[in-house]
Order: sequence, then structure tokens, then C-alpha cells
Amino acid sequence: MRVLIVAKTRMGSGACIGALTENGESVRLIPFNADEHQGANREYEIGEIWEISAKPAAAVIPPHHENIVVYEKRHLRTVTALESAIELLMPPNIGHPCELYEGLLQMSRSGAFYIAEKSGMPPYSTTFWRPDQALNRDTDSRRIRYRYPTADGGCTLTYVGFQEPIETIPAGTLVRVSLAQWWKPTDRTDNEERCHAQISGWFLEEPVREPALSRQTSPVEESALSQRSQADMPPPETPRQYLKHVFGHDDFRALQEEIITHVLDRRDALIVLPTGGGKSLCYQLPALIFQGVSVVVSPLISLMQDQVMQLQQKGIPAAFLNSTLSYDAYVETMHQVKRGEIKLLYVAPETLVRNEILLMLDASNIACIAIDEAHCISQWGHDFRPEYRQLVSVRERFPNAVCVAMTATATPRVQADITQQLRLQTENQFIASFDRGNLFITVEPKVELLRQTLAFLNAHHGESGIIYCQTKKQVESLCHNLSTYGIQALPYHADLGAETRKHHQEAFINGDTRIIVATIAFGMGIDKPDVRFVLHAGLPKEPESYYQEIGRAGRDGQRSECLLLFSYGDVDTIHHFIDEGAPSERKGRLERLNTLVDWATSLECRRKGLLAYFGEQTGQVNCDMCDNCRQAREERVDLTVPAQKFLSCVYRTGQMFGGAHIISVLRGSKAKKVLENGHDALSTYGIGTEYSAAQWNYLMQQFIQHKLLRRDAQHGSLRLTEKGWAVIRSEEPFLGFSVDTAVPVVRKPAVSDTISEEPSPYARELFEQLRLKRKEVADAAEVPPYVIFHDKALQEMATYFPESVAAFEQIRGVGPAKIEKYADIFLPIIRAHCQEKNEKE
Ligand code: ADP
Repeated sequence: MRVLIVAKTRMGSGACIGALTENGESVRLIPFNADEHQGANREYEIGEIWEISAKPAAAVIPPHHENIVVYEKRHLRTVTALESAIELLMPPNIGHPCELYEGLLQMSRSGAFYIAEKSGMPPYSTTFWRPDQALNRDTDSRRIRYRYPTADGGCTLTYVGFQEPIETIPAGTLVRVSLAQWWKPTDRTDNEERCHAQISGWFLEEPVREPALSRQTSPVEESALSQRSQADMPPPETPRQYLKHVFGHDDFRALQEEIITHVLDRRDALIVLPTGGGKSLCYQLPALIFQGVSVVVSPLISLMQDQVMQLQQKGIPAAFLNSTLSYDAYVETMHQVKRGEIKLLYVAPETLVRNEILLMLDASNIACIAIDEAHCISQWGHDFRPEYRQLVSVRERFPNAVCVAMTATATPRVQADITQQLRLQTENQFIASFDRGNLFITVEPKVELLRQTLAFLNAHHGESGIIYCQTKKQVESLCHNLSTYGIQALPYHADLGAETRKHHQEAFINGDTRIIVATIAFGMGIDKPDVRFVLHAGLPKEPESYYQEIGRAGRDGQRSECLLLFSYGDVDTIHHFIDEGAPSERKGRLERLNTLVDWATSLECRRKGLLAYFGEQTGQVNCDMCDNCRQAREERVDLTVPAQKFLSCVYRTGQMFGGAHIISVLRGSKAKKVLENGHDALSTYGIGTEYSAAQWNYLMQQFIQHKLLRRDAQHGSLRLTEKGWAVIRSEEPFLGFSVDTAVPVVRKPAVSDTISEEPSPYARELFEQLRLKRKEVADAAEVPPYVIFHDKALQEMATYFPESVAAFEQIRGVGPAKIEKYADIFLPIIRAHCQEKNEKE
């Protein structure tokens, strides 16, 4: 185990060594050869970390439980911020000495503190203390003692450390207190045995810099000021100026300005904005204007790190505290917070409720507590996390901090719960539409997965995207098949092992791979803004997961495509999972699945259907950003004859079979099931050979969509509807989409070298050059490319061709920090492009 040495006191010719383990337990190190080892333990120094192998000492006399015998040891290093390290591992008692040892200390007639067995024993013998009064050296005595002042003359603790005894230990100093061995005065045999409390050392504060409160300018203002000379801009004052100069955005998005004004007025807020709606800015921007630190609670370590990285790139002092930090980095971050150097501190909920963090925040000036994914606080939410409940007490501890709770997915019931738990005023709610207007939503029947996938990827050449599959097997097989067409995609599923998953996720975020093929295991915490498409190769289990998964596309607000390949086979697979799952959940899961199937097979605006499910009504008649709204205007062909063939076949087979069997009969199959049922004798046997099975499938889905047929949710069998009968009787025609559009034709291996010929509004060649440069810069800085610039910024560069710093500054997402870092790198590429173009013309 590793131990941090925190005390070295005198003991015979050697030293008594006190240490803390990584788990915050106190230990006392006894060398295995203590007897013959002269000057034992003198090699340890306070502040050192040692790797030791040790066993508990054979005889342990309470309360000295800490004794361990050390057999081997190795010095590792020395910590730099010892005091914070101790606070972290063993938070001190603060105040009067009666706070020490669970209140069990008693005072002898002479004023010495001790504990006695009769009055109760603490479960430990060493502890830390920050006295609320100065301790003065007691010079009357032969021993060195320190006196804590009280009204009746004070009480004393013997000093046993190696440090030079100072005259006064200032109030608030971190002091180590321990209990001496059991002792009984020989001349007073009627006295009970006692352990006296003694001081074994102290740690004087490292000099603390002026806190942020009393500074004239905040670190961000300073950083913005220092960059001002570069871009020749006045320092930001108003939120709008911060928006432009620090964040590089021209305009606020819906509700942002209103929320920011409200938060700057120091009023709490509940913010429900869709994913990608720009919630972060609502606390990040005020954090720059507030004096003090804003604490951001975020449940996902990857998200936290990503946000901090992006903020630091903008020149904003941000940091996080979580388990990934090395010990020294953790302690150093705590110091920075205490010194008022951090504006935005990201912490996991379980970290925030730790004692040492609360103590650190007590000593800091907290301006705001922002709670991300606030729905986790509610047990009605889909992602309840018990550790979120403890945030309520943190909120109470810092009543003057503004509280901002944010979520993208909260039903009205969850919103009410968040409001009530965090005691937010009901008028402080900002609830925006769930609509993600930049996502183009399409549902296509799944007829040939690989071909459809290839065609889709072909149309999205060079773009980043996620392909979701239902099973791990499907993930592996699709990845393999894509690779035979020259498309590199990385798999992601639970069986891959944490290391591989992490590696693949990072490759996707860093742009080293543009496609990830994944089960639902992928996505939590993916904050990649330029995911251009989400393809569902398999059906999700409910509308919630579907909406969450497509929500990972287009977080930068740019148009992104979401294609769901729908098949009834997938519906059956989910049915199977539901049947195997907990019976208590069956009803709800079936309901949600059926809702998704109805939605996927409906002809209504996709957006309208989804939003209605989440309790939102849209007045819009045509969103123009989904297949159904687009197709409503497209050319349809007369499909009455194939419809009649199919419907008659359903009728003649007794309306008790699924689509696959009907198609077999229509195509004259000699399958066992067809022959056994005598269906080869039917008049509809073999009358549909003009279409392939895939094309019939495509037609069938249209018949169901248009409600000529009803599919039994449980068994998959098809039955005719009134409308179907009307088509059979030729009372109504059936108009639908030609089978020619069903299965796209893909050459092998054509995809990697066919670039979509769509006319692009920006100079593609320049865009590619800028993108390559961005990747190079990102790799060198070990950050994902979008942290340098978003795609949108590069596209604007390839549209407006800025050649000067002033013109560069007009590009979206380009603020002073980015100008300083990147103008000299990107402008030459743009200039060279323009020059080449001029020469050609
Ligand atoms: P959320 O947390 O709501 O999912 P984010 O705060 O991560 O969304 O913002 C999503 C993306 O939108 C980010 O890339 C962010 O830089 C960008 N963004 C936020 N506000 C604006 C704005 N006013 N103008 C342009 N882009 C913005």
C-alpha cells in the first residue's frame, strides 16, 4: 500500500511515524526489526509517499488501532501541497478541542487533556485539528506544552514532535493530535489509567494569494485583456460582448439571453433545452462575470473533461475534480480554487459532497452551482441517481450561490420534482421546445441492410456518424462487411473491454475514425458537435432511446441526417427481449415499443409525432425536414395491382401468416412451410415473380403504413382492413412509391472513391485543406479537432475566404483566444488558396 507520512515524533533513539493511507486511514509505522534497529524510522520525512508492505501489529491496545509492522518499503516521491493532501485524506476537526475525539476528551486538574476507558474510547488515536484560537507555548513546564485559552486558565497539550517549537501556533493552523500510551501516575494509585492528548506537529499555511473577491479584475478579464492587444478589441463588459469576444458567437440562441440576464440577477433557474440547445453557455457566460467560482455538477467524467478542455482553449480558467486526476493534480486544483484562480469548477456529484471539497468551498467564494443532467435528481426520471439527492444539502449549505438546474429530457412530472427538491421558485423555469429542427428524419423499410447502409454512407462521404445496431453480433458483422467495401468503421459494444471501448470512442471524437458502429452502449457523454448522421440499422426499443440517439447528431446546429431502417423482424427481436425481461416491466415496455412502431409506420410528420409523445404540440403543418413531409409532395405511382395481389394472398392463406410467408407464396417458393400448408395450390401462388423478395417487402411496408393491412403486434400475422377490402374490390386505387427507389445500387468497392456530387456552397478543396490542418493542430495539442474549430467555422472560412485578422474574427466561433493561437496557422492556407484561384482566373 501507499502511505503519506504526516508525523514524525520522538521516541527513544528512533522516531514514531504517523502516516495516512490512500483510503484516508491513519497508521503508525513500526519497523519489523524495531528492537535491534537503532534510530529506527528516522529515514521517513513528513510529506513523503512510501510504498510499503505491512501487517497489523500483533498486539493492539485500543485506542491505538493504527499500529502496523512494515516489512518492506520504498520511497516514491514527496508531495508538494501537503496540507491540502491531508485535508483531502482526513478532514480536520475545526474549533474548540472538545470537538476532538468524538467529544470524549476530559481535562485533568492541571488542565491536561486526556481520555479514559471508563468515559468511552474513540475508534482512533490520531486526528487533525484546526483550533479556533491561537495555541501558546507554555514555558512554565519542563515539558513543552501548548495552551488553549479558556476562561478558567486554559488547558494544555504536550508537544512531542521534531519540529522547532514555535511561540504561537496561529488559530486555524492544521495541527496533528495523537493520544499517548496508557499512563497512570505512580504516586496516585487510585487514579484511573489515561491516554493524554498530545500535539505531534503542525503545518503552517503556504502563503495564500488575495482571493478573487478583492481583485480588480477577474482572471478571465485579465486573459481577455491580454488578448485584446492582439485583436485590438475593447475588454468585454456586457454579456453580448462576452458572447462574441470570449465564446466567438454572434448571437444568442433561443432563450439564452433571457436566461443569462436572469442568472446574472442572481436568480435561480430551471432550464429545459433540447440537446445541443446551448445550455452550457447559460452558466458559463455568467460565471465569467460573477466574482468567485461557479461549481458545475456533471455526472459524466468524459463530458466534464471535454467541457474543461474547450473552455481552456478559449482562455477561460476552468478545472475539474474527479477520480481521473493524479493525487498531486487533485490537490493542486484544490489550491487553485482556494486562491480564486478558477472560474468554472466541474465536479462529479459524489465528489461535491465529500467533506474536503465542502470545506474547500467554504473557504472559497461560490457564485453559482450549476447542475447538469438535473433530471437525475428525480426518481421519476429515466436516469435517477441517488448521489444527486445529496445535492440538496449542498444547495442548502451555500444559500447565497445562484442555483441553475439543466436538463434536456424532463417530462412535466420530473420538472416539478427538480423544482421542489432544489427549492427553485416556479416562475424561474425556462422550458424550450424539444424540437431539433436541424435533424432530417427518415424512416425506410429495411430491405437490404448492407446496400442501404452503403448508399447512405456514400451520400455522407467524409462525414462523421454513428450507426446503431440491435446486437453485438450485428455490430461486428456490419463492421466487417463495410470493410470489404473499403469503409473503415470501428465497433463499440459491451464485449469489447473497457480499454478498447475507450480507444474507439477517442478515435471517433478525435476524428481518427469517422464512423462508429455501436450498440446502445455507445453515446453517453459523447459531446462531439459535428456528428453529421445517425443511422439506425436496427430498431431502438422505445421512442426515448431513439430520440436520445438521434440527438447525438448535429449538436452544432448544422443539418444532420437521421435514418431509421425499419423492419418487423426487429420488432419481433425486441418482443423476444421483452418476454425474457422482468414481468413487471413488460406492459410498459410493450406500450413504448408499439408507440415507436406506430410512429415508424405512420405517414404523419415525424417531428410532430415525436414531439407529441414528449408532451409538446406543434402548430406546424409541414416541417419539411422529414421524409413524410417531403414525400407528401413527391410523385406517387399507381400500385393498385401489386396491392391487390398481396392482399388477396393474405386473404387466401387465411389471414394468419406473416409477411415473409405471403411473399414466399407470391413468388412461388417451394419452401416446406408453403408446401405443407398446401399454399402452392392457391390461385395467388407464383403470381408475384416480377418483384424480388426485398421489393415485396418494401411494398408490404407501404400497404401497412397506408393501413390496407393490420399487423398483429404479438404474432406478426396480417389481416385486411376495410381500406384493404376497398382496394381489392377496386373501389379505391393505391398510390405509393415505386419499388425502383427501394434498393439502391452500389458498386463494389466503389464507396470510398465516389464523392457525393451534390453542389456544395463552400469551396470543398479549401475546406479539406483546413480540415487537415485542424487535425494536425488538434493532434499536436492532444485535443479533438472540434475543440480547435467546429466544421461550421471551417465552412465559413471556405465561403468568405478571410485573409486578414479582422475578417477572420468575423467567422463564427473565432474569438480572441483562437485568433491568437490559430490565425497565423489558418490564414496562410486561405491566402494561398485565394492567390491560386486568382492566378487561375
Ligand atoms: P447542450 O448542453 O444544451 O446540449 P451545448 O451547451 O453543449 O448544448 O451547446 C451545443 C453547441 O452549440 C456547442 O458546440 C456550443 O458551442 C454551441 N453554441 C451554444 N450557444 C451558441 C450560440 N449562441 N451561437 C452559436 N453556437 C452556440
